[in-house]
Amino acid sequence: MNMNYDEKLKILIIGDSTVGKTSILTRFCKNEFSWNYLATIGIDFFSKDIELTNPNKLIRIKIWDTAGQERFKSLSKSFFRNADGIIIVFDVSKKDSFENLQFWIDSVHNNLGKTNNNNNNENEDNVNVIIIGNKIDLIREVNKEEGLKYSKESGFKYYETSALTGENIENSFLEFIKDILDGNKKKENKKKGIKLNNNNNLINKNNDDENWCYC
Ligand code: GDP
Ligand code: MG
Repeated sequence: MNMNYDEKLKILIIGDSTVGKTSILTRFCKNEFSWNYLATIGIDFFSKDIELTNPNKLIRIKIWDTAGQERFKSLSKSFFRNADGIIIVFDVSKKDSFENLQFWIDSVHNNLGKTNNNNNNENEDNVNVIIIGNKIDLIREVNKEEGLKYSKESGFKYYETSALTGENIENSFLEFIKDILDGNKKKENKKKGIKLNNNNNLINKNNDDENWCYC
């Protein structure tokens, strides 16, 4: 299918191994969940189209998964290139994944802060970052207040999700996408453009149609 997209966004999802990154994407893109450990599958990216109303816009979201490299804590600079948004995930039932957040935040700064010398180089100011505490269906080692406090101090929005139950997955993504689009709009200093009054203006394309989602 040959679609004309009004915007294309590149989003990355990073964080410790087994925190549920692939599961979050699978839930968001396909509304599915698997108990199987997915680290070795090696999927590069997930794709989803989102239709925006008032005015009508078609947005293609490409979300890049780390496919296991995160175990070695080595993500390449090219992985970060041209990202519009980055999701850093930890597992609320595993304190160490929360304590490792700083490593992932540092890796964002390191990979986006000092890049090329050319004109259209990537700059971390251009990238919207959020933190997600996943697995809220399990017994917690990190409470919501801790997650909120840490994220606020780091300057990022905080969301909590369960890829298992699906709780807050879609809402988190749609708010994030809205923030990215709003940020892009400001950056480009456009007088006109996408206007989002509330979440209802963001409509997910039907996940059942494979043309719209091939995860
Ligand atoms: P990744 O390494 O960060 O991509 O993590 P995966 O998505 O592979 O998930 C690791 C394991 O955690 C899998 O067994 C998933 O089924 C499980 N998992 C992922 N998200 C959740 C969640 O929200 N709740 C629960 N209970 N388990 C989850
Ligand atoms: Mg994975």
